[in-house]
Amino acid sequence: MKLNERIRKAHRFSKPYRIEDGKRFRLADIDPEDTGGLKSEDKPRAQEALQAGIETLAELQDRLYAQDRWAVLLVFQAMDAAGKDGVIKHVMSGINPQGCQVASFKAPSAEELDHDYLWRCQKFLPERGRIGIFNRSYYEEVLVVRVHPEFLQAQKLPASLLGKKIWDQRYEDIRNFERYLGRNGVLIRKFFLHVSRQEQKRRFLERLENPAKNWKFSSADLKERACWGRYREAYEEMIRATATREAPWYVVPADNKWFTRVVVAAAIIDAMGALDLKYPEVGKEQRAGLAAAQKALREEK
Ligand code: ATP
Ligand code: MG
Repeated sequence: MKLNERIRKAHRFSKPYRIEDGKRFRLADIDPEDTGGLKSEDKPRAQEALQAGIETLAELQDRLYAQDRWAVLLVFQAMDAAGKDGVIKHVMSGINPQGCQVASFKAPSAEELDHDYLWRCQKFLPERGRIGIFNRSYYEEVLVVRVHPEFLQAQKLPASLLGKKIWDQRYEDIRNFERYLGRNGVLIRKFFLHVSRQEQKRRFLERLENPAKNWKFSSADLKERACWGRYREAYEEMIRATATREAPWYVVPADNKWFTRVVVAAAIIDAMGALDLKYPEVGKEQRAGLAAAQKALREEK
């Protein structure tokens, strides 16, 4: 299949999950168990599609790198155990490590708390020609910080700035920041891996029962799980306020890992495919230089 055809397919496949105008978005409209009409017997076919998607991504990334004009920023947000790490590992597995960087954002350090909240993220923005992945991001500032007001208190902001409008102001600043990046050649796609509460429980239990997975469980996970409803509200409001045409959110059903991965790969292919990435063209003068180099090498004793 030609690259263009693969890109068109990826577009059709990922579109149902793309939110680019959040005004009417409701989290309840997307079912975490959704598999886009595919059944579990289609799983092998989906896995083949993922493999093909991974190869397509590698091809697009090669062009991105060679062209050296655009950068791609992929933001991943989710509740614990929704599968962020697995998606990053699988979907990016075909990509040349030289052209890709992953940054994980945890609770901020003392140094980070001494700066504005975008500071630590700005340091990890991808260079032109590269793909940057944010495993959590500045969006935590309107999620975990909103759900736990004590984190906001720890941010050392002047008291007069801690008004009721702070969340709307943060949404606005994030929108502007993303627009600024877009205008500088950074293509942004944001993914919310939408897992259900039951599926999270199942995965936690698996982590507790399987000694090889024990390390993935943290007692903080249950504390956050207890705030499920408030996280849902924060996610919904965040997506409503920050989904834009230039930097859309993908709300990806995450109860079936095989499906999540295909949707994420398709969404990235769709976005990068629209950039019309091309290998730099070799001009007349350069071509003459290449021919001379070829001749010199051939004639070398
Ligand atoms: P995993 O659990 O899959 O290993 P993770 O991304 O959940 O990966 P953890 O080390 O478990 O990583 O958790 C990081 C924690 O840091 C998350 O609970 C997240 O909400 C929190 N965090 C991230 N940014 C901030 C922030 N700005 N303020 C407070 N907490 C934050
Ligand atoms: Mg965690």
